[in-house]
Amino acid sequence: MPRDPRYDILFDSVKIGPVTAKNRFFQVPHCNGMGYRDPSAVATMRAVKAQGGWGVVCTEQAEIHPTAEICPFIELRIWSDQDVPMLARIADSVHEHGALAGLQLCHNGMNAPNLYSREIPMGPVDLPVFSVFNDPVQARAMDKEDIRNLRKWHREAALRSKRAGYDIVYVYAGKLFGGPMFFLSRRFNNRTDEYGGSMENRARLLKELIEDVKDAVGDTMGVACRISVDEMIGEEGLHASEARDIIAHLGEVPDLWDLTLSSWDNDSQTSRFADEAYQEPFVLGVKKVTSKPVVGVGRFTSPDTMVRMIKQGVLDFIGAARPSIADPFIPEKIREGRLEDIRECIGCNMCVAGDHTSSISRCTQNPSMGEEWRRGWHPEYIRPKQDEGRVLVVGAGPAGLEAAMMLGKRGHDVALAERGTQLGGRLVNERRLPGLSAWGRVADYRAGQLANMSNVEIYYDSALTDEDILGFGFDHVVLATGSAWRRDGVGRAVLKPLVLDGAEALNPDDLMAGARPAAREVLLFDDDHYYMGGVLAELLVKEGYTVTLVTPAATVSSWSFNTMEQHKIQARLIELGVKIRPSAILTGVQNGVATLACAYTGRTEEIAASAVVPVTARLPRHELAQSLRARQGEWGAAGLHAVTVIGDALAPGTIAAAVWSGRRYAEELGTNPDPAGVPFRREVAELLPFDLSSILTR
Ligand code: ADP
Ligand code: SF4
Repeated sequence: MPRDPRYDILFDSVKIGPVTAKNRFFQVPHCNGMGYRDPSAVATMRAVKAQGGWGVVCTEQAEIHPTAEICPFIELRIWSDQDVPMLARIADSVHEHGALAGLQLCHNGMNAPNLYSREIPMGPVDLPVFSVFNDPVQARAMDKEDIRNLRKWHREAALRSKRAGYDIVYVYAGKLFGGPMFFLSRRFNNRTDEYGGSMENRARLLKELIEDVKDAVGDTMGVACRISVDEMIGEEGLHASEARDIIAHLGEVPDLWDLTLSSWDNDSQTSRFADEAYQEPFVLGVKKVTSKPVVGVGRFTSPDTMVRMIKQGVLDFIGAARPSIADPFIPEKIREGRLEDIRECIGCNMCVAGDHTSSISRCTQNPSMGEEWRRGWHPEYIRPKQDEGRVLVVGAGPAGLEAAMMLGKRGHDVALAERGTQLGGRLVNERRLPGLSAWGRVADYRAGQLANMSNVEIYYDSALTDEDILGFGFDHVVLATGSAWRRDGVGRAVLKPLVLDGAEALNPDDLMAGARPAAREVLLFDDDHYYMGGVLAELLVKEGYTVTLVTPAATVSSWSFNTMEQHKIQARLIELGVKIRPSAILTGVQNGVATLACAYTGRTEEIAASAVVPVTARLPRHELAQSLRARQGEWGAAGLHAVTVIGDALAPGTIAAAVWSGRRYAEELGTNPDPAGVPFRREVAELLPFDLSSILTR
């Protein structure tokens, strides 16, 4: 289908200093948990985005000097010429598809604990580092020599970026990651010299850094400045009107302004807390104070919203991190008029969790994220089938839908059997929970794709048995039958079923199916620690129940720290009146009285509990697998070669894990992977010459 002319404006070319972007799609810098540990994996992931049509593809932050490194988080480094080949590989890969390659230089200043380098961090003043884990490290106030050094390091890093082949280089003053931001923000900067005090003074360091970098490489490279426009803490921090003054003051110095909110949790808000284009009120008006192009983000997935941003003069470039992860091909799909094929980001921040856990960024919507080089997966393509095998997929949750869709794309004849009347599995109910409606996109995207596949048949109301399956004659059977929440409290803190005497026990499945306790007072025991406990507490309290959330952790939904939501969830539950009992373990209920044990001392207390909702663990639904395995002797006669269990039916996990599991099955069908081997490629650091004697000799 030809492109809708309404979207033509998104394909205008735009100049960034001496370089020109072919369109307005701008993949802003984003971390990915791979960085210097997995350079070829990063290069391939970025190359896929360039192939998907982004006009600009940037790296994550590249740390410019050992005095600012954010271990344990894995980003890039540009400390010396040793780093240039790795960075060049990324730039070269991006160039193969005609995108501009941007490199985000970063000196994290007093955000960096320097746990690896052991150098003393530096900031505008003497203060503890503002790091993710509140490390016991203080930054020292920079003197004039430090400032001269910082300027020199930026210049040198810019020259290295040029040698590595980049087109755009950043000076980073955003999100309380880029060190110069600590100079900009009044709350951190009470210096009395020319780098503190007035707005002009606080902006002096940033201005000097941009000018230095421009001086070094600005003849051939675009110089971007990434800056936070609001810390979202009111007058005390950097806020929209002051940021606008700073940008007006520096307006023409860089070639491009990249606008963010601060800190990262405000910049990358989840769909539970913010809608698409949520940054608009904060970036409005910036274009009036600079003639330089402006890029901003806001989880943009709708081309109409993108067009509005351009036409209303809010932005020049449509910036995206997460939408470009969920669908690296958004620009191409808009260009080709294939809007129904866009795989929209659901705003869950599983990608962020990959970075926070120093693993790799995984994506709920795009299971190929991070697997492009390691396993050779592509977000759009999959190699054709290797045999004529017909496949039956049982269960249409995230795992079954992904498996059926990708097997269909490989060209297999597929039957997808679902015992219910809708596609989506767990999402059928979970998408109705407070704040989770966007998660339904996982099911909707796949249902939309399957609807156009003539080789995939979907059967509803089909609760299959082993007898059914053996009668069908499929070559391969995939069981994606999901899991069910436990009702007995067993999870992490409790390993034997609880006695819940005199209390009505409902599990999350019951509540999601519409059941409600007869009593108005509910004790919710959350030993799952991700979103479900907090979401159900929110659901019940909004319906007028009195909810006490008991958790062995110190905070509610504690794993949601990794999706940058924990503090928001805690605040929301407090505001809604949920009673929170942290560091406590439910040990049982007798005659409607619950016993809670302190998670530290074991000391017990009793509270009334006529209704209990344990949110602790799930049990895989593996009865079908067991009964089929019990009849393995009949498989040959039935034409059945293999039965494979995937997703929650194998081991209950996240939706992202279920989707990934479905993809893995589809990728590996017919490949016979060696179970003894490493199931993916990895890069091992090149060894330098080794002279033990120089160290061991006195
Ligand atoms: P996952 O996250 O692994 O995809 P879900 O629980 O979301 O798992 O989905 C499992 C799906 O499997 C549900 O829609 C459920 O109705 C379906 N299902 C379970 N058992 C059967 C069965 N015997 N026949 C057909 N569908 C089944
Ligand atoms: Fe979007 Fe979630 Fe994917 Fe991140 S993991 S890109 S938030 S869908």
